[in-house]
Amino acid sequence: MGGTFDPIHYGHLVTAEEVRVKFRLTDVFFVPSGNPPHKLDREVTHPEHRYLMTVLATVTNLFFSVSRIEIDREGPSYAIDTIAQFKSFAGEDVDLYFITGADAFLSMDKWYKADELLKMCNFVAATRPGYPIEKLDTRFSGFIEIVEVPALSISSTDIRGRVKEGRSIKYLLPEAVEDYIFKNGLYRD
Ligand code: NAP
Repeated sequence: MGGTFDPIHYGHLVTAEEVRVKFRLTDVFFVPSGNPPHKLDREVTHPEHRYLMTVLATVTNLFFSVSRIEIDREGPSYAIDTIAQFKSFAGEDVDLYFITGADAFLSMDKWYKADELLKMCNFVAATRPGYPIEKLDTRFSGFIEIVEVPALSISSTDIRGRVKEGRSIKYLLPEAVEDYIFKNGLYRD
């Protein structure tokens, strides 16, 4: 499961659990992005903070782990490099699913080596109910499974905005992540 996780919230966690059960996955690896190539113009929270918040959020689920693969890799975080690395650990015969938000797939035509990537694994796009899936490029939509997750009305952008404005973020994300945000003064300015 790829994402910036800035910060991770219950929408991401419910998505991971839904997809795990639906596709009978043995494990879900959360992969916080290191240097998102499409976000060079926006300040993203330091990878170590995003990694630690992801660990705190996933610790209570036996099937969830967090990978440092993108954080520890130099250069831009391309999905194709991540999938190739997972394939080399797990073996070619393991069925891999790349899970992320549907909005991220909207720009898939610009992803590095997108056509090659499509042949490497299964893809799952998480959306909130009512999301217009026809927005997905028809070149890719046949390869992408859509999973609707009501909890995805929670968003990292909204949480960052709430912290900045001094509004509550309670019940939007695990308490340990909330504590971590305040302890480290994240998203205040
Ligand atoms: P994004 O553009 O920040 O997010 C797009 C939308 O998807 C947002 O609404 C976001 O909500 C949601 N989302 C992101 N991750 C999610 C998840 N795991 N589960 C459910 N919803 C999720 O996307 P991003 O986080 O930067 O990138 C997503 C993934 O695509 C990453 O693994 C990234 O490496 C990959 N990607 C690869 C390339 C490439 O290879 N060139 C290019 C772009 C993206 P929140 O803001 O609430 O998370």
